[in-house]
Amino acid sequence: MKPLADFPLDSMNTLGVKSKAEYFYSFGSVEELEHVIGWARSHNQPLRLLGGGSNVLLEPDVSGLILQSAILGKHCVRDTESQVWLKVGAGENWHDFTQWSIQNGYCGLENLSLIPGLVGASPIQNIGAYGVEVSSLIESVEVYDLEQNQLRTLNKMECEFAYRDSIFKRSEGRALIVLNITFVLDKSPSVNISYPVLQQHFENANIAKPSARDVANAVIEIRQNKLPSPSETPNVGSFFKNPVVDEDQLSQLLKLHPEMPHYTHGALYKIAAAWLIDQAGWKGKAIAGVAVHHQQALVVVNPEHQNLDVILGFASEVQRDIQQKFGISLEIEPQCLASIELDRSAAW
Ligand SMILES: Cc1cc2nc3c(=O)[nH]c(=O)nc-3n(C[C@H](O)[C@H](O)[C@H](O)COP(=O)(O)OP(=O)(O)OC[C@H]3O[C@@H](n4cnc5c(N)ncnc54)[C@H](O)[C@@H]3O)c2cc1C
Repeated sequence: MKPLADFPLDSMNTLGVKSKAEYFYSFGSVEELEHVIGWARSHNQPLRLLGGGSNVLLEPDVSGLILQSAILGKHCVRDTESQVWLKVGAGENWHDFTQWSIQNGYCGLENLSLIPGLVGASPIQNIGAYGVEVSSLIESVEVYDLEQNQLRTLNKMECEFAYRDSIFKRSEGRALIVLNITFVLDKSPSVNISYPVLQQHFENANIAKPSARDVANAVIEIRQNKLPSPSETPNVGSFFKNPVVDEDQLSQLLKLHPEMPHYTHGALYKIAAAWLIDQAGWKGKAIAGVAVHHQQALVVVNPEHQNLDVILGFASEVQRDIQQKFGISLEIEPQCLASIELDRSAAW
């Protein structure tokens, strides 16, 4: 077991950024992980975690050791008449898992079909699409805690899930490596087609009671028509988060822009970032080879494989303009890989 030095990451990030890791290691078991953590401690290397690279911003040279979980497996750990508990390895491909679960007669993941990446990253930003967030289907997350040097299981409450957020994105959860996730899925067909685009799809198709397979197929079709494929046009899906505002801010904004799309979000309101970007005239606009996609204003594309500085420069132009025109600050969704410093005094 030895990490690979100067490991190219060009094909491991969907934004197509040229990048290389000082060291890289893909672990397939807890034993391998413990070995490689020992190596990092003895070589004084910080750790960073990478999944499928579909939601990250990579610097040209990433220092330290990048770890990727290749833990596989989909096991039924509990079963009742109406539900099944599946423990799934972090290294499984997310889309393949969603389709496998539907084939086996389990319901819940269909709206999350075709999201790129690995299962292990799904709780990090609490992935969501077409009216479903993964947190609604997670019972617990098994992690390796680099501060306590032990395995732990976080229940759903402890994961502190929120919109595109969880404990894993915050400083108190950064030292947690996701190993396995336990999902609770329904055995009975109880699909969620409350999202307007899905409702419309089934109305047009004249299907009153769609199955999980029907919903997955609809989601796949809608996504393929709407979103550029990263293999053809490098991107990370939504580049900006939908801004969340309170009632006062919303009513101020609606006075100026009565047609602005907004949705309730608990006690707050979500504003469609795509609408703001489109209204500000950014759809299809490019600077130095980086552009807002011509059909989907939330997606920043990088067809010329520009480096991170150019991409962030472009994003800050968009952010500055939206701030100026609407007084709203847009937050970037993908993140640079956080560096985890290891405590060298920890016993091994
Ligand atoms: C075309 C396209 C469409 C997309 N659509 C959606 C969508 O509809 N909804 C949505 O929510 N997202 C969407 N995304 C974003 C992305 O696919 C998801 O966030 C996905 O979960 C990222 O998975 P990944 O394996 O690629 O993770 P990475 O991008 O490799 O990593 C993401 C984050 O997770 C951390 N991480 C990864 N693995 C682990 C681990 N085992 N333990 C601890 N931390 C870890 C990384 O450090 C990083 O901070 C889309 C992206 C693309 C390119």
